[in-house]
Amino acid sequence: MIKIANYINGEHLPAQSENYLDNYDPSTGKVYSLIPESDALDVEAAVAAAKKAFPKWSSCGVEERYRIMNRIADLIGENMEELARAESRDSGKAISLSRAVDIPRAESNIRFFATAILHFGSESYHMEGLAVNYVLRQPIGIVGCISPWNLPLYLFTWKIAPALATGNCVIAKPSEMTPMTAYLFSKICVEAGLPPGVLNIVHGLGPKAGQAIVEHPKIKAVSFTGGTNTGKILARTAAPMFKKLSLELGGKNPNIIFADCDFERAVRTTVRSSFANNGQICLCGSRVYIERPIYEKFRDELVKRVKSLKVGNPFEEDTVQGALVSKQHREKVLGYLELAKEEGGSILCGGETVSPDGEYSEGYYLSPAIIEGLPNACRTNQEEIFGPVVTLQPFDTEEEALELANGVQYGLASTIWTQDIQRASRMAEKIEAGIVWINCWLLRDLRTPFGGVKDSGVGREGGMEALRFFTEPKNVCVRY
Ligand code: NDP
Repeated sequence: MIKIANYINGEHLPAQSENYLDNYDPSTGKVYSLIPESDALDVEAAVAAAKKAFPKWSSCGVEERYRIMNRIADLIGENMEELARAESRDSGKAISLSRAVDIPRAESNIRFFATAILHFGSESYHMEGLAVNYVLRQPIGIVGCISPWNLPLYLFTWKIAPALATGNCVIAKPSEMTPMTAYLFSKICVEAGLPPGVLNIVHGLGPKAGQAIVEHPKIKAVSFTGGTNTGKILARTAAPMFKKLSLELGGKNPNIIFADCDFERAVRTTVRSSFANNGQICLCGSRVYIERPIYEKFRDELVKRVKSLKVGNPFEEDTVQGALVSKQHREKVLGYLELAKEEGGSILCGGETVSPDGEYSEGYYLSPAIIEGLPNACRTNQEEIFGPVVTLQPFDTEEEALELANGVQYGLASTIWTQDIQRASRMAEKIEAGIVWINCWLLRDLRTPFGGVKDSGVGREGGMEALRFFTEPKNVCVRY
């Protein structure tokens, strides 16, 4: 049985309590490794290590930080297959997805911020004849990065890369449900020569180890991705301590399809935007609005294609839908399917547990579900399910589509399918979301601002936004 270790001061250590938590393989439903159950004592040790490492790391120069981070990215690339298999084992996702998306993106995250820091400048303001102001962008010091289970190494690296590039030392906690690739990553950091204490990884439960990070007075900023309710707890804890906080939270994203869309591309992409990673991506569109003239045609084609997606053993090359992340999560999604029926919805396909043969028979599989006949205001259409479930609703006008799309508490991403660029631009302006994709989905440029409005979060990640978050601006005014 693999024993995962914390990574503190460059060493791999058990939790000080010496307690372990079981780590389940969602594809088989069996425990396959052990996770250190860390607490405030481990966070304290990590902070002490980070404090010691900070003066050197923050002043070693951007070229040195670039060199080490670029080496880390190289090593992710060299260990791609091992990391992809580990990611699929830990999270249940199809190996094809880990290979094509999760691990390549983790490599890109590190490389992107390693190079971005070489080009990071700051403003200056000239007061003619009087003075010049220039802005120093200095690292904050010790920062916390807390990430969720749906895109484990992908989101973990998305946070720590800008934090490290800007010269901060980091205390990071991956989700207790998917700790494995963060552990393998810590070994890569040692091999790449990252100095001890610059990055510290503390494994364990959110309310214990995660909370200890947020509460620690020496951790001055926290970047968090996770659920909206957890985000509220973080905000309550961090606000009286005046910590800088970036919150990337839940979503209930609309996917708006007009009758003049490129039908084939729209339907093909909607299969993906609805069900990629079993719908366990914060950017997946879970409310599909279809203009009435093509409602039946689009619905029937979508159902036909979704029925043909292969659900099962994530390690088979042609599997599209692996297992959901945990037994509890599958139960939560099944609960929502029951609720949808009570609320008057018809399940057009899916929503059934699947039991493959042999050692995978106890895994947490669920066939992708499409529901129609529900009003926008019902709970199924208002609450984040975060599983392989979408609802379909027809609409008649642009105004109605907008009202339906904006009629939830969330505002993360949205997708609009139309050939009419005027309409697409009008909609993009009025839609309440941090991200609008027109005639595409999940097309990501790492330089763009990333984040949500309303209950989907506060602040932006990505590109310069992330580098700004992890630095404090200091204005220096020089009188002539
Ligand atoms: P959670 O909010 O349950 O957990 C996120 C992280 O926070 C985990 O590492 C968790 O640890 C930790 N945590 C839990 N409680 C606390 C606490 N009190 N203090 C500090 N840390 C804590 O989210 P999930 O892991 O369930 O992830 C799914 C959610 O993430 C969905 O709502 C999804 O929409 C959202 N998400 C948002 C994205 C965005 O960019 N906006 C992107 C991806 C996902 P542990 O797991 O060990 O409990």
